[in-house]
Amino acid sequence: MKTYGYGHQTINRDDIEAVSQALTSDFLTCGPTVKAFEQAICDYTGAKYCVAVSNATAGLHIAALAAGLTKGDEAITTPITFLSSANCICFVGATPVFADIDSETANIDPQEIQKHITEKTKALIPVHFAGQSCDMEAISDIAKKYNLIVIEDAAHAIGSEYKATKVGSCAYSDMTVFSFHPVKTITTGEGGAVTTNNKELYDKLCAFRAHGMHKEGAMQNTWEYEMRELGYNYRMTDFQAALGISQLKKLDAFKQRRREIVDYYNQNLGLPHLIERDFSNACFHLYPVLVQNRRDFYFKAREKGLNLQVHYIPVHTQPYYAQFGYKKGDYPKAENYYEHCISLPLYPTLTDEDLAEIVKRLKEINV
Ligand SMILES: *Cc1c(COP(=O)(O)O)cnc(C)c1O
Repeated sequence: MKTYGYGHQTINRDDIEAVSQALTSDFLTCGPTVKAFEQAICDYTGAKYCVAVSNATAGLHIAALAAGLTKGDEAITTPITFLSSANCICFVGATPVFADIDSETANIDPQEIQKHITEKTKALIPVHFAGQSCDMEAISDIAKKYNLIVIEDAAHAIGSEYKATKVGSCAYSDMTVFSFHPVKTITTGEGGAVTTNNKELYDKLCAFRAHGMHKEGAMQNTWEYEMRELGYNYRMTDFQAALGISQLKKLDAFKQRRREIVDYYNQNLGLPHLIERDFSNACFHLYPVLVQNRRDFYFKAREKGLNLQVHYIPVHTQPYYAQFGYKKGDYPKAENYYEHCISLPLYPTLTDEDLAEIVKRLKEINV
């Protein structure tokens, strides 16, 4: 029996060729291919600057540092996300605050954000869940009103659009963070990128990515450098960047196939699913449906060769987050969503025959 996971990378001969070329070039890291990948992301998204990093978690960390987020500050994110969106707030000693979701999209609800604004709020970290953009105009209005920094966690959303803009353009935010983990839409193995239109933020991101080192003016002709802040080694390698450039060329084709698969499920499954808003043209990363008995559904699907996944356990219910006073019951919409959600197979190499087979197997599950 053919088995299906919820996500899978697409690697072709041209990707392999691109990586091979990078491996036999002079630079395995800190070379021109990383710069070329950053430029390609700028060209695609319309952002002015891009900083490639070792993974999106590192990208969120340096974005939080560049934002100046620190002890005593609060930053607001969603409970329905991967750990990193909230962990990056903890990395810099700030306090994570959650705002409940809009149940129709599972994205953070701007009205809920508003309820959690305090004098300590310094940043908003919306997550474009499943690839659909959050309501960025509403979020950016709140940010302007209270003078907050907006960091978009776009780990799911490269290729997605909000109104007339590409996610990553930072038209409604200060910085956007992408992930290139193999389950995401394009991959570099491990990898990520931060985009911004702000030169000052860009310079900080570059420094935090590389030990807090600066090398300017006359220093460029000597061994000299200055460390002005505590940074990390969050660099991407040139052979990863080569894979990224090759993958980025296929992003629009991936997006088209992902949207076709979503349409197919919407029309043929008859299970409750997320709604796409008028402002969105999503490059879907996930296709979650809502089922009555999720635990039974999960195990019955596994017996049928469907290895589904749950996105996500609400972050505020994790044991680590209890120290901030969070407990079950704090965010009822997120918790209710979690009780019923399960993500179906969604990746571009699924054929029409695969989709018919997956839907047939899913329809045999009655729980
Ligand atoms: C995958 C993911 C991350 C982390 O990405 P890595 O590249 O694995 O560090 C962060 N946020 C969200 C929403 C994710 O899905």
